[in-house]
Amino acid sequence: MTTQITSSFATDAELLAAITPNSGGREIFDPATGALVALAPEHTTADLETAITAARAAQPGWAARSHAERSDLLNLAADAVEANAEALAVLLSREQGKPLNGPNARFEVGACAAWLRTTAGFELEPEVLVDDEGGKAELHYRPLGVVGAIGPWNWPMMISVWQLAPALRMGNTVVLKPSEYTPLSVLALVHVINSVLPKDLLHVISGGRDVGEAISTHADINKIMFTGSTATGKAIIRSSADSVKRLTLELGGNDAGIVLPDADVKAIVTDVFWGAFINTGQTCAALKRLYVHEDIYEELCTALTEVAAAMPMGVGLDEANVLGPLQNQAQYNIVASLVQAAVDSGARVLTGANPVNDQPGFFYPTTLIADIDNNNPLVAQEQFGPALPIIKYSNIDDAVAMANGLDVGLGASVWSRDKDAARAVAARIEAGTVWINKHGAVDPRVPFGGAKSSGYGLEFGVEGLKHLGQPQIISY
Ligand code: NAD
Repeated sequence: MTTQITSSFATDAELLAAITPNSGGREIFDPATGALVALAPEHTTADLETAITAARAAQPGWAARSHAERSDLLNLAADAVEANAEALAVLLSREQGKPLNGPNARFEVGACAAWLRTTAGFELEPEVLVDDEGGKAELHYRPLGVVGAIGPWNWPMMISVWQLAPALRMGNTVVLKPSEYTPLSVLALVHVINSVLPKDLLHVISGGRDVGEAISTHADINKIMFTGSTATGKAIIRSSADSVKRLTLELGGNDAGIVLPDADVKAIVTDVFWGAFINTGQTCAALKRLYVHEDIYEELCTALTEVAAAMPMGVGLDEANVLGPLQNQAQYNIVASLVQAAVDSGARVLTGANPVNDQPGFFYPTTLIADIDNNNPLVAQEQFGPALPIIKYSNIDDAVAMANGLDVGLGASVWSRDKDAARAVAARIEAGTVWINKHGAVDPRVPFGGAKSSGYGLEFGVEGLKHLGQPQIISY
């Protein structure tokens, strides 16, 4: 399924030549220009069977290697990603739409190398739980077997690494199923990584939902790492039940940010902006609802509008741009209809909300909406695009109640000059991560996971590594 390489790719065209079929395949278009990027292979459930069989056969040999050997190979994989970073970033930009610059394509490829390297460096020694005259009990983590990894289209390379790096590090083998919207990015990344890994540890199957469904029911898949929508996560829970698969589910969010009255508007405004608009808002743990105290409401609205005006949006390969298009028409339609509903309700448009359709590409303007009701669909639903509703509050209890009022809880943030006051508010918020004076700042050393319908299980850090292992007690 995958080909070994030994040399670096100078351009995205060379990468594409290595991963695309000579004829046939599914057309992948650049969401910024509408131009054809390439034809992606269309793998089937028969290809999935072949990949799972090969991954299963390779797994015991991989598990038999030491942690140190597996770490060395992950570090080599990080080197390979870095050696091909620019070609990978250009391809990612053309397929996903995100600009090269800003917290986008080059940033994403850099994060892939960082996550591989950090995951390679973790120690996972057995824990001695009891050691007394009555005996000894140790906690070990064994590999699970073959891990199925199913990913979304917003951060296709980075999220694939979040799944494959800890899985491989623990001695599992991996079958990855990228989103049908962004297969090329993941095929290219895996091609580069496989240039340094032993054969058959890591497979990528470029297929549709049927392949995802087949992974979730397959008897020879021991664990699923899934990142995507809550609806699909629920479908995977149901379809994986018969085989009692282990699941890590990173699902949808609709993150709240609460700005306390003492916040330093000038100091925080750029970070608030990027907390919301990173990857043009197509980020699970992006700030999607901003609750601002009435004392500084107008000041922050004005400051955010000024920052938004200074952030160019356009074709990703243009070095000037830091915001890009929506990745696909369906996502564009969701954002456009939710913003329109907000405008129709009488909410105040600070900027945006008026798309000009005179160019190809799914560009939706950076949109800030003030004086909006908390029950408006733009607030209550995950819009996953470049729009931010800003809700005024006067009482912190109301703000916390509004932040906790939805059935999702991935991330959240509190903004204040007073860290203790912010931490006290953070403790009341129902979310897997609460950041203070920042939002969405994930770190490969720090566990990350959702509360409520945003999923379960943890990724990152030693805790995340443990989720790719079978705990085993040895008692004697
Ligand atoms: P999606 O659920 O539509 O698709 C994700 C993947 O699941 C795709 O590869 C798809 O082919 C596959 N799939 C679809 N139906 C399936 C099924 N029945 N069984 C198995 N696999 C199936 O999600 P998306 O639109 O690609 O991504 C956007 C969503 O992902 C948003 O809700 C976003 O919040 C969420 N997300 C969450 C995180 C996180 O860490 N929590 C990160 C990124 C994105």
